[in-house]
Amino acid sequence: MISYHSSSEPPRGGVPHPATAEASPVFLDGSFGEGGGQILRTSLSLSALTGQPLRLEKIRAGREKPGLKRQHLAAVKAVAEICGAKTNGAELGSTTLSFSPGAIRGGAYRFDVGSAGSATLVAQTVLPVLLRAPEPSEVAITGGTHVPWAPTWDFFAESYLPQLHAMGARVEAECPMRGFYPAGGGEIRLRVEPFNEADARPFALEKTGALRRARVSAIVSGIPIAIAETEADILMEKFPELALERDVREVESPGPGNAVWVSLEFERVTAVFSSIGEYDLSRKTVAHRVMNAVRKYLKTGAPACPHLADQLVVPIVALGGAGVFVKGKDTLHETTNWEVVRTFLPAAEIVREETDGDPKIRLRVRR
Ligand code: ATP
Repeated sequence: MISYHSSSEPPRGGVPHPATAEASPVFLDGSFGEGGGQILRTSLSLSALTGQPLRLEKIRAGREKPGLKRQHLAAVKAVAEICGAKTNGAELGSTTLSFSPGAIRGGAYRFDVGSAGSATLVAQTVLPVLLRAPEPSEVAITGGTHVPWAPTWDFFAESYLPQLHAMGARVEAECPMRGFYPAGGGEIRLRVEPFNEADARPFALEKTGALRRARVSAIVSGIPIAIAETEADILMEKFPELALERDVREVESPGPGNAVWVSLEFERVTAVFSSIGEYDLSRKTVAHRVMNAVRKYLKTGAPACPHLADQLVVPIVALGGAGVFVKGKDTLHETTNWEVVRTFLPAAEIVREETDGDPKIRLRVRR
């Protein structure tokens, strides 16, 4: 049996770890692979889960403005609060971080990204950790819920969360307020029950299954609804064969914004492809980004879209410890996540099988 660092009491089961105060830090070079915020977020989750201290250098060295941005700092502070970690370098712009985790504790938490930085990315960092707390948690995270280069709230709720449920996680989530760039101010709420080994189910996402429902959604806040109408119309016209249901709405948000997405609800996975409106982008371009992502996905037939593929890695490690999924081409985000897992858990097996179909990833965390 493998064990988690969920308390200083006997471990409750989960990821293998040395779990001693004297454990030497896991060193990571933040410039490797994808070279951005994901190395940080994955390391924070794994440090808390395995109880191994973390020393991260060259944080986001691959980016134009290296170092911790608000969203990254919010993730550091959030995980630190949850596991009573001692930190050094937890400051805006910092390119090094030392993080010494303690016991994971559930409870009531409120985390504020303090900008339009992604609240969903912070949610994905804390969730696998809170699932390993001995107590339930209620969490509110404020920030951006529909911002570029991050999962939208709808991706989180419709695509990512159901896969965690399939692993046996008990999480409820809601989004009482949308947050767009630049005003932010959105909110995500999570209710998390402690993961129970008895709930662990072998995770397998190998086929999409039949398409049950397909929908195009377009939302606006503080700008003409006609923008969302046009985006939805373009996508309906591009995919007549999908018979998309249409959902066009104005939403409440502290600032103006627009997002459009297509949700393909298959038996085994819901794939969500989103695009965020920006000041200098035409509504046609915003809709075409969704169109291109949908086309690529339907062409491969692999159930895990590239984003879901990188986001499944940490939950699989945190929950059942084993899983298999089929996905499209490797992305740097995904391969970087594998490396971070291997750094924390050298005995982890991550096998990429390429047969005549799409790549299949088998992941197993062992003692
Ligand atoms: P950076 O350091 O580049 O500023 P960051 O910390 O904001 O980055 P990344 O490290 O690039 O973010 O990680 C972004 C995460 O968001 C990845 O898990 C990626 O798959 C996910 N993501 C990006 N765009 C989408 C999208 N449209 N739908 C779902 N997930 C997305």
